[in-house]
Amino acid sequence: MRCPKCGLDVQPEKTWQLISPLPDSEGRITITIMGSFKCSNCGHIWRGVVSKIKAGGDNVEVEGSASKRVLEGKDKEKREGQVIEVDLSDLDDIESDE
Ligand SMILES: [Zn+2]
Repeated sequence: MRCPKCGLDVQPEKTWQLISPLPDSEGRITITIMGSFKCSNCGHIWRGVVSKIKAGGDNVEVEGSASKRVLEGKDKEKREGQVIEVDLSDLDDIESDE
């Protein structure tokens, strides 16, 4: 992600997932990958959305800042210098009791 101050491309120091418990209209759960960034050039520190993943049903949709694609089954998303793995079994815990 580019530094908003100087434009340097910075890798996240730390990432974490925010899982929305409410499924969307297609019954999918949205997982937002957040990252904290620190620019090695100007020292600016910020947080931002690294990627969004919609999981559920028959496919996993990965929405990044530059690309958006739909994966079949449990394929893993691979992008330049960045690998995002989602263990779908983790989602079982947050399915509703209804
Ligand atoms: Zn910077």
